[in-house]
Amino acid sequence: VPIERMRNFCVIAHIDHGKSTLSDRLLELTGTIQPGGSHQVLDKLDVERERGITVKAQTCTMLYNHKGEDYLLHLVDTPGHVDFRAEVSRSYASCNGALLVVDASQGVQAQTVANFYLAFAQGLSMIPVINKVDLQHAEPERVTEQLLGTFELEDPVMVSAKTGLNVAAVLPAVIERVPAPQGSVDKPLKMLLIDSWYSTYKGVVLLVRVFDGVVKQGDHIMSMGSKLKYIVGELGIQYPTEMATSCLRAGQVGYMYFNPGMKTISDAKLGDTFCHLGKEKEVEPFRGFEEPQSMVFVGAFPTNQDEFQKLEDSINQLTLNDRSITIAKESSHALGLGWRLGFLGTLHCSVFEDRLRQEFGGSELLITAPTVPFKIIWRETVRDRKGEEVPKETIITNPALYPEDDVIRTKVQEIQEPYVLATITIPADPPEFLGHVIELCQENRGNQVELTFFSTQVILKYKLPLLQLVDNFFGKLKGITKGYATLDYEDAGYLKSDVVKLELLVNKEPVDAIAQLCHRSSAERLGRMWVQRFKSFVDRQLFEIVIQAAIGKRVLARETVQAFRKDVTAKLYGGDHTRRKKLLEKQKAGKKKLRAIGNVIIDQKAFQGFLARD
Ligand code: GDP
Ligand code: MG
Repeated sequence: VPIERMRNFCVIAHIDHGKSTLSDRLLELTGTIQPGGSHQVLDKLDVERERGITVKAQTCTMLYNHKGEDYLLHLVDTPGHVDFRAEVSRSYASCNGALLVVDASQGVQAQTVANFYLAFAQGLSMIPVINKVDLQHAEPERVTEQLLGTFELEDPVMVSAKTGLNVAAVLPAVIERVPAPQGSVDKPLKMLLIDSWYSTYKGVVLLVRVFDGVVKQGDHIMSMGSKLKYIVGELGIQYPTEMATSCLRAGQVGYMYFNPGMKTISDAKLGDTFCHLGKEKEVEPFRGFEEPQSMVFVGAFPTNQDEFQKLEDSINQLTLNDRSITIAKESSHALGLGWRLGFLGTLHCSVFEDRLRQEFGGSELLITAPTVPFKIIWRETVRDRKGEEVPKETIITNPALYPEDDVIRTKVQEIQEPYVLATITIPADPPEFLGHVIELCQENRGNQVELTFFSTQVILKYKLPLLQLVDNFFGKLKGITKGYATLDYEDAGYLKSDVVKLELLVNKEPVDAIAQLCHRSSAERLGRMWVQRFKSFVDRQLFEIVIQAAIGKRVLARETVQAFRKDVTAKLYGGDHTRRKKLLEKQKAGKKKLRAIGNVIIDQKAFQGFLARD
């Protein structure tokens, strides 16, 4: 198939608007998969099927005959959620057009807006598809108006991906409205690395988009980023699983692996350009992709310290194909050895948490409350690249590394926290929704940027601290809008903040892993919640246990766990240090699930209960 008859396009949509279902229908229609049943072929990860969301972009090549000519179509199903924006914009790099799928009963939602602008910025030709027209409360005319009004998009294709109604009109629209890829098979090979994953049988597999030239098995090629040289072992297309072909030509997207294989997956730098060995001078490499930044962090600890290795294996296994997760060892006095994990956003974090619990096994895992990076601007200055004096900055992703009070007082200029620009859509009716949402945003230190009424919808834009978002903001938003609100956000940089470190103390000893950086205005409420919650999980002991929440030396909240009723044993052993030590050692040798905070022995179950998010 010549390049004029290739089309590379992606499907973008708000979650649940029918992206995966439509992709399935298109694969059936082209005979790529057998019709019938619910496939969600492109959702390969278990978590994607379980949660019904797409996390990793998935691709598939289709052959399609249009007006007597064969076309090679390449479809990319992209994640709808903002956390995976890097993934999404990477996959756009292989496309020239996009199907913008909108649910006929819901209209434009937060992620429709976000994905539209992302795709628009990358110059993709957009074809609006109004899906679910079979629904009784579908309002295709209103959504058509909305698409025109919001995005100036005309001529939507009306379909029902579920019943198959009019799905046949989609691919002709792609052929007519999406431009063919540019490029020439006669030019030297220029190939972009879009994605990579690890396969047990083949090792590191690459997903590439060939821009110019032709690449074949046995070709000697070179990474223009790392300068490493490789020999192409096998290449082909996803159809929908890997199918070897003799070559990949300009315009095509396909997989390949090397022989001998790439040593580690980190050699596969997404956004890297490959060329034929010896042709480096003739090829202008691509600029590469921006490295996504981790914005949400948690600590993960095995309840039983003997299982640290097992936890490490599970984490390594899961991060093999998701290198946007940052990992570092962490040691906590209260929870022992564990890991500090960094994620792109809150959904990314919770999806991983689910997978880790599955992989590692049930309840044997402690995960600390999510936090965000804080920026410390020191009074001290350093020289930047141009040699000019600028304030020294440190990013802190672990409350344990937060400077002591006196250091803050004497050496720190200011502390900043990350903000996001959030887009929220809600129905205009009932009108109370708007009031509730504004209230919620204000409670969460939000600043309104925009408020637009759009026929039956309201679109709000707020600048919000990311820290507020990780505290189940979306859950609360859904709660006050009967599930109708949608949320999307983008990075809005760091802003000055009044940050304090809140600590939980057990008989005056801080429990390090529970400490949290928070805004001064929420410290007291959080502190009171902490002490009550922790108390409910701590067993009575032979002496009184005082639980406090404090900022530095200032105690904000306090609860007491009463001692057992005084009896002979308590009198005899209550304060006996050696006996308590013996008890602790005995239990340590046994289940190893007890921890000592000062003189208090605490069952790991208490931490587990305390840290469980409900
Ligand atoms: P995605 O999150 O955009 O990939 O959405 P899915 O393809 O997973 O679809 C979300 C839900 O909507 C699923 O329960 C589908 O069965 C349903 N759905 C998809 N297309 C249609 C349609 O045309 N009509 C109806 N009634 N339901 C649909
Ligand atoms: Mg999906």
